[in-house]
Amino acid sequence: MSVPNDVRKEVEELRREIEEHNYNYYVLDSPTIPDEQYDWMMRRLIQLEEQYPQLATPDSPSRRVGGRVQEGFKPVKHLVPMLSLGNTFNEDELKDFHRRVRSALNDQPVEYVVELKIDGLAISLLYENGRLVRGATRGDGETGEDITENLKTVGSIPLKLRQPVPRLEVRGEAYMPKEAFAKLNAQREERGEPLFANPRNAAAGSLRQLDPKVTAGRHLSTFIYGIGHLEGPEMDSHAEALQWLKELGFRINPHIKVFKTISGVIDYLNTWLEKRFQLPYVIDGMVIKVNSLAQQRRLGFTAKSPRWATAFKFPAEKAKTKVEDIKISVGRTGVLTPTAYLTPVEVAGSTVSRAVLHNEDIIKKKNIKIGDTVVIHKAGDVIPEVVEVLTEKRTGRERDFIYPEKCPECGTKVVREEGEAAVRCPNPYCPARTREGIFHFVSRAAMDIDGLGPAVITQLLRAGLIHDAGDLYSLKFDDLIKLERIGEKSARNLLNAIADSKQRPLGQLIFALGIRHVGQTAAKKLAKHFGSLEKLALATEEELVAVPEVGPKMAESIVRWFNRENNIKLLKKLISAGVNTKNVETKKAVNNSLAGKSFVLTGTLKNYTRKEAKEVIEERGGRVVSSVSKKTDYVLAGENPGSKLEKAQQLGVEVIDEEKFKELLEV
Ligand code: NAD
Repeated sequence: MSVPNDVRKEVEELRREIEEHNYNYYVLDSPTIPDEQYDWMMRRLIQLEEQYPQLATPDSPSRRVGGRVQEGFKPVKHLVPMLSLGNTFNEDELKDFHRRVRSALNDQPVEYVVELKIDGLAISLLYENGRLVRGATRGDGETGEDITENLKTVGSIPLKLRQPVPRLEVRGEAYMPKEAFAKLNAQREERGEPLFANPRNAAAGSLRQLDPKVTAGRHLSTFIYGIGHLEGPEMDSHAEALQWLKELGFRINPHIKVFKTISGVIDYLNTWLEKRFQLPYVIDGMVIKVNSLAQQRRLGFTAKSPRWATAFKFPAEKAKTKVEDIKISVGRTGVLTPTAYLTPVEVAGSTVSRAVLHNEDIIKKKNIKIGDTVVIHKAGDVIPEVVEVLTEKRTGRERDFIYPEKCPECGTKVVREEGEAAVRCPNPYCPARTREGIFHFVSRAAMDIDGLGPAVITQLLRAGLIHDAGDLYSLKFDDLIKLERIGEKSARNLLNAIADSKQRPLGQLIFALGIRHVGQTAAKKLAKHFGSLEKLALATEEELVAVPEVGPKMAESIVRWFNRENNIKLLKKLISAGVNTKNVETKKAVNNSLAGKSFVLTGTLKNYTRKEAKEVIEERGGRVVSSVSKKTDYVLAGENPGSKLEKAQQLGVEVIDEEKFKELLEV
């Protein structure tokens, strides 16, 4: 059959587009189209190549793993290629996969292992004599990038195996939990940096950093799902291999199950369609693998993926709704943020009634008007976003949103700085900025005052009991119990929490002040360099830029902040309340490396009693809490850990062993 010209052209066009999207996705970590659209293009390409085999070429994107090696990283040749997975999108396609497997195995019975398809990026970890010697990305499948130092910062990756194995290469997924993703994007938004489209891109961007310290701050985790190469014990099945990997100390997903029938597989897949939204990490489907390793060997591979496995992709959750209004809120740095108020609609497991529109440019680019019917989704299953406007649904009654020229809270003329997408209220005394500044001051990474949520702060401001964060320290029991919904017990707890916060490390206090451009890391560096808040307050721009990490923009912002009258008043209140303003170097000259981190201890440790472990954590600014929640940063597990370990795994909290703990202490 000859190939019609328009087909030839379509194939060329598809290949060109797919290559470009591969580049955006795998190299820049910044896709410009939704995955579904990409998958659709790929399916169309495969369909045309099957229909017209003379068009197929070995370098077509349909036959290759999409990534490539980025400059700046050492290339790593994989011992065994790291492939992609074939896709199925519905039950029929999955049954076809099963039929293909059965027929290639001459109708032998097959067992399947079903796993969650974690939406992160594939990593390979090589252990020699039980020690981690190399960690790499998948890259183009043959050659990946050496990211060993970055992977060493990820707590769930063992640096040493619990049992000796001569040589082992494992594969797994590195991912960013939903909560960490939402926080990271919120931080980036505040700093005017580009947002990550989803946790996968955020994880990839975090691991491909030239500075491992950046990776360390990104709260990544891993699930290991297979063996690439093994010089060690013989295994019969994939399930057995996973169990063994677990014993070696790898983090294995707890929801993996084995099925003897394809209908069992399908039932299990269906149970995850809705349940997936409750997981603390994103999954974009399930992976179905033939369990017997002998059968896997018989089935073999295509150029791009194993024949013994397939990914069952879940449809991306989207919903149609209406933009009822667009309103502006003013943040702590004065940024005006537009938010779409939507007719409430169910998407990805919860009701959504708002979506942040970020800035004027985005409203224009997406062409959003008040009254529009829009399609929304949740980025990373957590952040509602307007994907597109259904312009065909317009009736003519839609209204353009007029960006305000004045701050809606204080009436000051707003400014848009060159090169920035954000519009700001420049008035440092704006009441909205004060309120948001106090929310920030009490937040966990800052002064970490429990029980002081936005509702209580708003009440305190309205009642005139506080005017800035410094006033929190002079609140009285009698004032508090007059407030709505605050009983004696919560008033007492609140006062205790406020009093406790006086002992926070200086880095946290500096961060709490909310100086523009000063993030958590810079705040810690400033604390260490200047040693006290008083010295920092007097520092000149020249002295400030001498601190590593501090650039001219930040230096200028710091000097300006300390010169403002209301800030000087705030500092005076903090100092007279007895808030710690010194960088207390403890007797062992330890650092603040665990500032703001919370630990749960379980099991028996070899080198520390519980009390000692608590002491060393607290000396470094961390704290020990008694039960595991999503907010816990690390679960330190010793011998015979209790149910806390399981809870941590369920919640996706990073579990560390004593060795990893020692490393954290030595940072
Ligand atoms: P994939 O993500 O569809 O599946 C393969 C990957 O799944 C493996 O490499 C592994 O990292 C991962 N995985 C997660 N859990 C697993 C488990 N339990 N067992 C085995 N593997 C597991 O394939 P891919 O080649 O990494 O990426 C292709 C996909 O990426 C496309 O389907 C598309 O959705 C997306 N993509 C999007 C764009 C875009 O522009 N939007 C561009 C390129 C690729």
